[in-house]
Amino acid sequence: MDTILKDRQKQILIKGKDQFQMECAKASLAGSVSQRACVFCGSRVVLYPIVDALHLIHGPVGCAAFTWDIRGSLSSGPQLHRLSFTTDLSENEVIFGGEKKLYKAVSELIDKHRPKAAFIYSTCIVGLIGDDVEAICKKISREKNIEVIPVQAPGFAGTKKDGYKVACDAIAQLVGMSKESKTRPNSINILGDFNLAGELWLLKDYYEQMGVEIVSTITGDGRVDDIKRSHTAALNLVQCSGSMIHLAKDMKEKYNIPFKRVSYFGIEDMSTALYEVARFFSNSEMIRKASVLVKNEINALLPALAPYKQKLAGKRAAIYVGGAFKAISLIKALRLIGMDTVIVGSQTGNKDDYLLMKELCDAGTVILDDSNPMELSKFVQEKQADILIGGVKERPIAYKMGLGFCDHNHERKEALAGYQGMINFAKEVYASVMSPVWQFTKPKSL
Ligand code: SF4
Repeated sequence: MDTILKDRQKQILIKGKDQFQMECAKASLAGSVSQRACVFCGSRVVLYPIVDALHLIHGPVGCAAFTWDIRGSLSSGPQLHRLSFTTDLSENEVIFGGEKKLYKAVSELIDKHRPKAAFIYSTCIVGLIGDDVEAICKKISREKNIEVIPVQAPGFAGTKKDGYKVACDAIAQLVGMSKESKTRPNSINILGDFNLAGELWLLKDYYEQMGVEIVSTITGDGRVDDIKRSHTAALNLVQCSGSMIHLAKDMKEKYNIPFKRVSYFGIEDMSTALYEVARFFSNSEMIRKASVLVKNEINALLPALAPYKQKLAGKRAAIYVGGAFKAISLIKALRLIGMDTVIVGSQTGNKDDYLLMKELCDAGTVILDDSNPMELSKFVQEKQADILIGGVKERPIAYKMGLGFCDHNHERKEALAGYQGMINFAKEVYASVMSPVWQFTKPKSL
């Protein structure tokens, strides 16, 4: 393909054709319009669902607008997270510094909204002008007697994945602050689910049916006080490991809490996520409850999926998502409804993730790391995909190419996790792939 930049060739592999040594987990190539977002955006997407915290962006208004209400993360209580506050830095502060403006803004907002904690994000401009955000956070923290946590995330300082790490470091400052110290039996923290369209509530219900106590959810529908006592959980479950594995490792080191990587997408991975917990606690009653739950859910789900599978059999899917673990689950979920994955990629996968994708896919599948719109469009066309599964930045690619699209990212309004999510996923894929509108579109040629 003539649209692949020379220095990106080792980030695109075809199963059965290329020697499989993916070059990944590195900065995006200059000149390649990466689908990745900036460091600040990475930190923001992780912290945003902490619903009783104040989130203030110290930077120009554009950074705040870019990430305003960035996820469909639902709250069962406070809605403070949905407001996007910014110091709106302009020319004056770039020249004379923005510290005074920041101090005034944070102080006023804390008085007005009474948050449980405040996260203060530094964006590109602050990284350049050098405001001492940490000192101001400490001062206000003392004055107002709440945690005011600096999130040093200038967009230029790395990749979106670096933003995840910055966010984990910010959360780690809250973990362990509660005076409680005793480990709670049969208890977990759910890390890396962001409660999109209420998915977290489905998962909580499954675990509670099994007799598992959920100490904190980090960060979906998250509460500052729960995070402060999250060190009392017996196990951390980590979904979206790209964003949360750093926190899980930190909690293992500081509090000796083991962690397990899980995924809640598709029947197979959802069931494994339940059994893993029951087995971890070696609790026969919990194992029994898990197997009853899984059996009941699957018995109801398989007949409901059958008509979709019949219609979708042999259709081809392209997957391009942020986290590699989700991409892996999607390959399995698509197979369950009779579909072939012809392209799969992620923004933040590592070598092990890509090896697992290779194992799961058929020969000829294109596997990509940190792709760009030109590559995606070209491969979608070459592989004659019927649907692209991705996020907000992939949607226009699919529609311009004249094929179906399924939003599996931040903004979606439909729960796609858990057993209920699997049927929602099948319905959405079916509605998009089989839509009669495609007969009126002409695939755009590149
Ligand atoms: S932090 Fe920098 S790259 Fe990110 S949105 Fe703001 S200006 Fe853009």
